[in-house]
Amino acid sequence: MHGNNLKFNFGFLIDASPGTSNEFEFDYPQIIIEDEKFIPLAGKFSATRTGEGILVQGTFNTTAQMDCIRCLEDSNVRVNGFVEELFFYPPSTALDEDAFTMGDDGNIDLGPLIRQESLINRPMQPLCQEDCKGLCIECGSNLNTDPCDCEIDDIDPRLAALKALLNN
Ligand SMILES: [Zn+2]
Ligand SMILES: [Zn+2]
Repeated sequence: MHGNNLKFNFGFLIDASPGTSNEFEFDYPQIIIEDEKFIPLAGKFSATRTGEGILVQGTFNTTAQMDCIRCLEDSNVRVNGFVEELFFYPPSTALDEDAFTMGDDGNIDLGPLIRQESLINRPMQPLCQEDCKGLCIECGSNLNTDPCDCEIDDIDPRLAALKALLNN
């Protein structure tokens, strides 16, 4: 869209009447926000003039590099997020220091918001694929890529102890 960043200009909404809305989309094959890499990053947003400033709302989807909890492989895990933020305009009307503001240049950088939201929305138990077969508990091979011939006795540990006794 406008180069490799997530800065958008909403200067054209400053003089618009409250309720005026503008939809925008972006779709980057790859983008780096601060130290975080997003491959890909797509979003669908709207910016609406309100009495207080510019309300930005939208959803995005991307992936995150995470280790699968079953096979421990570094994987691209899907991450979706939702952003809703009011950028006060003029900046002096912001309710507190932490509030987001839009300057007279009309520029808003969605990068930090999207980065933060994507970190919050990372799955707690990431999987490389829905039906990841994990690692063999006998030989440790990755059962997705290297099926092994180990026989896994899926029996109760107490029965296993009994079986060991009987074998002796
Ligand atoms: Zn896996
Ligand atoms: Zn095995």
